[in-house]
Amino acid sequence: MKKTKRNFIGGEWLEGANAADNINPSDTSDIIGEYAHASAAQTQQAIDAAYQASLAWGNSSIQHRSDILDNIGSEILQRREELGELVSREEGKTLPEGIGEATRAGQVFKFFAGEALRPGGEFIDSIRPGLDVSVTRAPMGVVGLILPWNFPIAIPAWKVAPALAYGNAVVFKPAELVPATAHAMAEIIVNAGVPDGVFNLVMGTGAEVGATIVNHPAVNAISFTGSVRTGRDVALAAASRMAKVQLEMGGKNPLVVLDDADLSTAVECAVNGAYFSTGQRCTASSRLIVTEGIHDKFVAAVSERMGKLTVDHALKAGTDIGPVVDQRQLQQNLDYIQVGINDGANLVCGGEQVSRDTQGFFMTPALFTESSNKMRINREEVFGPVATVIRVKDYEEALATANDTEFGLSSGIVTTSLKYSSHFKRHIQSGVASVNVPTAGVDYHVPFGGIKSSSYGSREQGSYAKEFYTTVKTAYTLP
Ligand code: NAD
Repeated sequence: MKKTKRNFIGGEWLEGANAADNINPSDTSDIIGEYAHASAAQTQQAIDAAYQASLAWGNSSIQHRSDILDNIGSEILQRREELGELVSREEGKTLPEGIGEATRAGQVFKFFAGEALRPGGEFIDSIRPGLDVSVTRAPMGVVGLILPWNFPIAIPAWKVAPALAYGNAVVFKPAELVPATAHAMAEIIVNAGVPDGVFNLVMGTGAEVGATIVNHPAVNAISFTGSVRTGRDVALAAASRMAKVQLEMGGKNPLVVLDDADLSTAVECAVNGAYFSTGQRCTASSRLIVTEGIHDKFVAAVSERMGKLTVDHALKAGTDIGPVVDQRQLQQNLDYIQVGINDGANLVCGGEQVSRDTQGFFMTPALFTESSNKMRINREEVFGPVATVIRVKDYEEALATANDTEFGLSSGIVTTSLKYSSHFKRHIQSGVASVNVPTAGVDYHVPFGGIKSSSYGSREQGSYAKEFYTTVKTAYTLP
């Protein structure tokens, strides 16, 4: 008999109101497990527990919090292969990508173990003679964390770790498609000795669990990563009750390739940025903006490299591109391929559903050429292994095209020119800019986030995370 994996609420593992199977996208006959879905009432119970626990946790010693986070990081790093395999099994990225992601999660906990010991603050003279002024950081209280499916352990880590480090109690809601890694991470957090109520896991739907978190008056801050459509609803609901909110959303990230680029660097940046992790990254380079002089050579070299990519089961040795996450996303990708063709772009390679030994959601990575920046495939986020080439005359046209989008998350340029790379970093409208490296690689000790429709609120990661997970208190003392 199947044993349903339960939610963690107020220090107890509790049955859900109902449950759902977690299916491996590489092999739909592989059911990873059955995971409980919390009801709205159970979600409220988790929020109440977090509220009760938040006061003591917010006043706990920073050494205590640091030690707990350090232990969580060590455990994740020690079990990185097992956790990485779970990530690959439920999300579909390849095993090396899954292990890399688990490693990143462990490093993030270690980083915030250090940050817990650096709360900072100021002690300054008052303008009123004889008084002292101090400016300190205080926790927000209860924070609600709402997650997407594409990074099942790294994104949870970079929200949960700073939340706990700065003394907040957490209500954590993973995406419906990836509860297994979230559950495994929750077990590690619980076993590390986090007090009852400080960390709560509530699995389930956005409509029920997510909406309850967003609308509950005891949740003082909401950190959301997901689509622009959901993000907008979350922001409106949060603003209507004056809750603090941080949103990380989609991208239509440009990679500019100039005539003077090193061709092999350009090809690696394009193929890695557009197709690795099955293109299911908010930072994926989906628009390849290429100047005339290198255009044909670049398209030929990228197509040749794509022909050598192996699409197969995520856990199989030699697989470069795992499956799409589910049937709905696969259909959406295939629909966008048709949209691109109908709008007059030229499909050079890929874009087809393919079958393998196991029943999974496999498709070949797709490359369009002769596309215009006005086409839907260049304006809307596909969130799959689909990239387009946009031919431009020169750097100036490339930059203008790159900036002509509602998004502003990540961007990149491949060039050997200091002049153009410096100009690009200054004038590209994005939160992250990369020169001669893929748009999708980021460090964990520096801020991450975007502008325009890609992000809202303060930055995540690095010491900048403090902006969201704390509030500032100014105190006057007459000694
Ligand atoms: P999604 O918006 O469908 O869901 C995100 C989360 O919101 C899920 O947990 C979902 O259950 C929840 N949710 C849904 N409706 C809700 C509601 N009414 N109230 C509260 N919560 C609700 O996004 P997804 O499909 O899981 O993720 C893919 C998207 O995430 C892409 O657009 C991608 O670009 C984006 N993303 C962005 C970043 C970033 O850092 N900028 C990182 C990863 C993914």
